[in-house]
Amino acid sequence: MEDDFDEFLKKQEANSVDPLEPEFSLEDSDIEFGKCPQCKAETFDLLLIEEFTKLSLIESGVEVNYDSVCAECIDGFNDQITYVGKMKAEQKQKMEILLAKWNNKIDFLKTGRSLMSQKIYPEAQKYFEEYIEILEAVFNNGNEGITPKMISEDHRKHESTIMCHLLFDLVYIYDKYEPGTAKLQYACDKLCEFLPYSRGQGAVVTKIRKYIKKAKNKSLIKQLFNNTKNLKSGCFIATAVFDEPYSVELTVLRNFRDQALKKYKLGRSFVYYYYKYSPSIANKIRNNYFIKTPVKYCLKFISFLLVKLNF
Ligand SMILES: [Zn+2]
Repeated sequence: MEDDFDEFLKKQEANSVDPLEPEFSLEDSDIEFGKCPQCKAETFDLLLIEEFTKLSLIESGVEVNYDSVCAECIDGFNDQITYVGKMKAEQKQKMEILLAKWNNKIDFLKTGRSLMSQKIYPEAQKYFEEYIEILEAVFNNGNEGITPKMISEDHRKHESTIMCHLLFDLVYIYDKYEPGTAKLQYACDKLCEFLPYSRGQGAVVTKIRKYIKKAKNKSLIKQLFNNTKNLKSGCFIATAVFDEPYSVELTVLRNFRDQALKKYKLGRSFVYYYYKYSPSIANKIRNNYFIKTPVKYCLKFISFLLVKLNF
C-alpha cells in the first residue's frame, strides 16, 4: 500500500509541467547603446518595467516591446494603465501564482510527508493544509470545500488516495494538538467522503482502528471508525469493477445482501466466506481490464435480474 502510494507520487512528479515561459524577452538587436528603446531619446538611465506594470499595460491593451525604458516612458506607461486593465492584471497574477502552486502541489505533499516522518507535526500540518487550500482555490468552492465529485473521473481515484492519506495524517495531528476543535471534525468528515473513492481503503481503515486507543478525542475517532465500517463491508469485487461506490448496480447488490442473503443460514455463510476471500480476488480483478469488463457485465446482469425479481 505505502509502496504503491510512493510510486504514484513519483509518477506525478515526472508529469509535472514546467513553469511558464516568459512571453517576450529583451533582444540585443533592439537596443541601441545610450538610447531609450521606446522613444529613442538619449539616456543612460534605463529603468526596468516592473512585472505587474507590464501585465497591467498588456491588459489595458498597450503593446509593451521592451523590458527597460527611460523614466519618462515609465511615466507615460503609468498614465496608460486603465482601471479594468489593472484589475485584470491582479486577477491574472493571482491565477499565475495559483498555477505555479498547482504545478508544485506534489512538493507540498512530499515535504509534509517527510516532516511527518520526522515527527515535526506542526510544520507538516502547514504543508498538508496548504495542499488542500490549493485544491479548494483551483476548484473554487468556498463553503463545501473540496469533494470527490469535483475531481474529474480520470483523476478521482488518484486524488482520493492522496487525500485519504493526507487527511488521516491531519486527523492525527489535530487530535494530538487541538482534539476539541472543529478542524478535527472537518478532517474526519472529509476522510469519510473520500474513502469510498480511494485505492486501498483497507489500509487507511486499519490505521484508524489502531489509532482509537491512543487518540485524545477517543469518541470522535471511534465514530470515524464506525462510519468507515459501512464502506469496509461494501462488496469488494463489485466496488473494484464499477469504480463508482454509489452506482445503481452496487446499491441493488448491497440491498440483496442485507435483505435477502442475511436472512438465511446458507446466505449468511456465503456472505461470511465471500468477505473472507473476496478482497484478494478484488485486488486481482481491479487492475486487469480483460477480467474486469466481463465481471462488470455479469454483475450488471445479476443486478438487472434482481431488480426484475423485486429485490
Ligand atoms: Zn523613453
